[in-house]
Amino acid sequence: MSAPRRPVLAGNWKMNHGPSETVRFFADFLAMHEPADDRTVVFFPPAISFAAAKEATQGRPDVRLGVQNVYWEASGAFTGELSVGMARDAGAELVLIGHSERRHVFGETSAETAKKVRAVLAGGLTPVLCVGETLDERQADRAEAVVAEQLEPVLAILSADEVAELVVAYEPVWAIGTGVTATPQDAAAMHAAVRARLAQAFGQEAADAVPVLYGGSVKPDNAAELMSQPGVDGVLVGGASLDAQGFAGICRAAG
Ligand code: PEP
Repeated sequence: MSAPRRPVLAGNWKMNHGPSETVRFFADFLAMHEPADDRTVVFFPPAISFAAAKEATQGRPDVRLGVQNVYWEASGAFTGELSVGMARDAGAELVLIGHSERRHVFGETSAETAKKVRAVLAGGLTPVLCVGETLDERQADRAEAVVAEQLEPVLAILSADEVAELVVAYEPVWAIGTGVTATPQDAAAMHAAVRARLAQAFGQEAADAVPVLYGGSVKPDNAAELMSQPGVDGVLVGGASLDAQGFAGICRAAG
């Protein structure tokens, strides 16, 4: 039997909290959040605030940092982009890939997410691959098919060993930043579908090693119920991760 997956509590700050707010946030959050080695707590600050976050979390190895996006090339004339090597050098351990806003605001394709996942793994960081359907797709009963389509190009480039390095975040687009959350039952069903697709590609043992997080309007008062669902291994939190007290509450909700 595979080892139990550790809960992952991840905060995606999007384009919020500049360097000064980052320092203030961590002064508050670290005073409230007891170090715990039975869960993974990770923040994705904006790139411009990464150094401030790194400095503010020195001496707290229980708090990890990641970046919100990377480009797949190592360096060069790619204005505005970050490479995996740069992210690693700055102290990032994880990288969000294919967040709904990257896909729907910036037009990132699933083929591009696969190139990014390949670059992140080659650079020794952990990709957090975000997938999820729009409301129209859900209403057309295509939620599982859409998520499978988004996973496909990534699964096609991974080996069974590499898939163990992956984290998947199921984030229905209609639940992100809307205050509407998937029901715990719908979240559990989608997580089961994601894991079934991983198992089909790499076998059950490999699939069982992959943390699958839920994201979409997670708040301190719904986090515990969502995380108590089978196959929901943690949460990726946007808006509610900007508030130190709220996010500390979500971290406690992991049990
Ligand atoms: C997100 O940004 O990944 C997210 C889930 O946002 P929110 O929690 O605000 O819905």
